[in-house]
Amino acid sequence: MQWVLFGVVFCGLYGVNGNRYADDPAVQRFQEYIRINTTTGGDLTPAVEFWTRLAAEQDVPINVYEYTKGYPIIVLKWAGLDSSLNSIQLNSHVDVVPADESEGWTYPPFGGVLTENGRIYGRGTQDMKSVTIQYYEALSRIKANNITLLRDVYMTIMPDEEVGGEDGMIPFLQSEEFSALNVGLELDEGAPSPIPIIPLFYQDKVVWQIKVDCYGEAAHGSTFPATNSTATGKCRNVIDALLKFREEQYIISTRATIFDAGVYTSVNLNRLNGGTANNIIPSVVSLTFDIRLGTRVNEDAFQAQLEQWIAEAGENITLTYISKNPQSPATVVSLSNPYWRAINQAARSLKVPIIPIVPPGSTDARHVRLAGVPAFGISPMANTPLLLHAVDEYLPASTFLKGINIYEQIITKLANIPSSDTSPDPSVYIVKTAL
Ligand SMILES: [Zn+2]
Repeated sequence: MQWVLFGVVFCGLYGVNGNRYADDPAVQRFQEYIRINTTTGGDLTPAVEFWTRLAAEQDVPINVYEYTKGYPIIVLKWAGLDSSLNSIQLNSHVDVVPADESEGWTYPPFGGVLTENGRIYGRGTQDMKSVTIQYYEALSRIKANNITLLRDVYMTIMPDEEVGGEDGMIPFLQSEEFSALNVGLELDEGAPSPIPIIPLFYQDKVVWQIKVDCYGEAAHGSTFPATNSTATGKCRNVIDALLKFREEQYIISTRATIFDAGVYTSVNLNRLNGGTANNIIPSVVSLTFDIRLGTRVNEDAFQAQLEQWIAEAGENITLTYISKNPQSPATVVSLSNPYWRAINQAARSLKVPIIPIVPPGSTDARHVRLAGVPAFGISPMANTPLLLHAVDEYLPASTFLKGINIYEQIITKLANIPSSDTSPDPSVYIVKTAL
């Protein structure tokens, strides 16, 4: 009932025209950023120029590092009062997954269109250009209020999160430039929530992708060799073993809460390749599986299990690891962690429930935790449909603007944690072993 009344008052004051947001400079910057096509692997020069201009507007230093040519890492420094303290790293990524109008977009994916009902459409509106602009707007607002935070705050913007961070976060974490930031806590991306909470990722599931090649004798389609001697017969055995495991894990997943996708291991058979002609028994058939390890899974035991399944499936089967990430530790989410306490305080003052979860996927934060720095993934998009990587990805302008307030609180609380509250060794706030 309250909401009905609220709706009437709301519409009475503003009408239903979303363009009341059109003059908001933060919305305009967001739209401009969406209009830069930053599909992974493309030319990021215009994005670097965009951030160079925005850094100049706020008179903050910007550095651009390239560990692989064409993959710039952008760093903006917002200096605090005491640079000797561990800093706060606000990470995001500039790259977006591909989008093409022909897929059925209502508005051009790189148009940054603000609709009459107040939605901003475009690739990256949720994943995750909104967050980068929100960090910037929050920090600009703090600066405009003549507030200098205690700790340094860095905005870091990665070029290739969508394809694993091989040319971005991974080399950056190994660099002297990263060491010099002296990071105490990293914030990274989270995800929207269709219910009125903001999920906070404290651990990521890691990715294993495997390719299984099953070899058999090529023969004429009229011959009739034993099933288990053929490439397809061997593949069937591999598929049976992995899909049986998948069934078991699927049942576990149906019992899991939305707050802990870490209790199950997901397995998907995503590619099947083989065969040359309709009347030839193929000599090789390949299978590619995408596996996201449960956070309690022991990697050595899981590898041994995989190899046993392959061995039992027949002879002349090879197993290749396309990716095999080590388990990523968890950031401590108890009041013993001063960084979690600060976020908790911000959530209370904002009256926004921020709930720790383990998501089904993974982000650059997994590399950060593995490097010994605690990280939380958070994107302030409560009551928002999940449209990451989807056609017609959009974010309501009201949610975008609310997110700036949320970051203003979170960043202020984090960057003002007194030095006496934190250990100079940030790795004490991560749990190294699987939970
Ligand atoms: Zn993302």
